[in-house]
Amino acid sequence: MQKDAITKICNACGIAKSLDDFDRDESGSHKRTSRCKECRCIINKEYKDNNKEAISSYNKDYNAKNKEARSLDNKIYYDKHKAVKPILTKEELEEKERIKQEKRSAINRQNKQRGKEKKEFVEANNADK
Ligand SMILES: [Zn+2]
Repeated sequence: MQKDAITKICNACGIAKSLDDFDRDESGSHKRTSRCKECRCIINKEYKDNNKEAISSYNKDYNAKNKEARSLDNKIYYDKHKAVKPILTKEELEEKERIKQEKRSAINRQNKQRGKEKKEFVEANNADK
């Protein structure tokens, strides 16, 4: 098995090249772009040179439009993150633990009390008979 033997013909220059010479592209054949890295580089450069102004104004526009959305994304992420993993101080943790213990002992007291009342009720009922 020779992994290196797999080649792909570049759509732009027509040369068969190793897959390593193509960028990854999930939708392309062999999951690679149709043009080799070299050609893509040249094409990109030419495209950029020919469209400098349009690209820079597009980027400006894009950034302006997305600034708000991005900061909202960050906020959502932050809130989510905060909700999942709250950062508590030592005192807050101790307070939380104290409340937990208090609730637990309140439930214990309640159960004990109910058990006592039940026992008394049953005994009183039996005494009547
Ligand atoms: Zn090429």
